[in-house]
Amino acid sequence: MSRAPGELYLLFLGLALAALHGCVTPPERLTSAPVVSSARYECLNDLAKRQGARASWDETAGVFRAQLGDRQVAAAPGVAAALLGPRLVLLGDEVMVRYGRVYVPRWLARDIAAYLAGTWTPRPDRPDAVLPPPTPPTPPTPPVRPRTVGKVCIDPGHGGRDPGAISKWGLQEKEVVLATARLLKEELKSRGFDARLTRDGDTFIELEDRPAIASQTGCDVFVAVHANAIRDPSYRGLEIFYWYGSWSAASAASRREGVELAEAIKRAAEREGLTVRNMRGADYKVLRYAKVPATLVEIGFLTNRAEEQALRTRAYRRRVARAIAEGIDAYRKGK
Ligand SMILES: [Zn+2]
Repeated sequence: MSRAPGELYLLFLGLALAALHGCVTPPERLTSAPVVSSARYECLNDLAKRQGARASWDETAGVFRAQLGDRQVAAAPGVAAALLGPRLVLLGDEVMVRYGRVYVPRWLARDIAAYLAGTWTPRPDRPDAVLPPPTPPTPPTPPVRPRTVGKVCIDPGHGGRDPGAISKWGLQEKEVVLATARLLKEELKSRGFDARLTRDGDTFIELEDRPAIASQTGCDVFVAVHANAIRDPSYRGLEIFYWYGSWSAASAASRREGVELAEAIKRAAEREGLTVRNMRGADYKVLRYAKVPATLVEIGFLTNRAEEQALRTRAYRRRVARAIAEGIDAYRKGK
């Protein structure tokens, strides 16, 4: 992940504005703001699509970009400025993100549309700034940042009176996730981690109590293991979640670490040759109440015949366990 110099400038300016006026809400708090008003805001994802621009949302950097030909715009939630090419447009309103979609005030959406279409002229009535010609500071190479991860809490979902999802062919989620969690524990131990399970049998644990076990037993990260079920039988692959919602028990730093952890597991799963269907934020209770960096991995779809059959095998469970362990190991090494 690297940022163009202009975007660094944008983020820097946002912080400077925040310091001067104290009017910029930090991104962590944006998620608790009320629902986006469609009278005042417009969705940039829709706008980009309408104009045929290529849109991307860099989850880690927290920057939305849209590009059409050689014209590029960038906006970052929580920063009261946006980049239209080399021009910095100062905002009175924030850029907001909801469920991975980015919203900006309507007047700005009009400017962005005009900019992408090549018809935009800066208005004299607004103090838009012009960036100095980009003198690129060498993009910071992300330092290798080893982390202290001694003990991992593995949480096999469901259990006891709660079977979780049950496949048409009779496979229960609570069984397959426990079997995989046990293999994950082995894989972690062979990599020098200490690891514990929230349940090592067919027992029921309340959702809120699961992340509490992680904190109470001195675990450094929390990994919940589940299996998916959905009406459409064609869905397959892994899904990896980190917390995203209006409130969580973790510090902002710990929540960011949760995203890094999820990303490391995603990369490791792809290296292992597994299909990762998606990685995204969700307000699951086990993630919401986790105080340590946390992720939830859905290890496959019980509703897909081929994947259900794979989930029954030790070989597939082993691959999934190895991928998650490799991901946690990469996260620990800061890679
Ligand atoms: Zn589940």
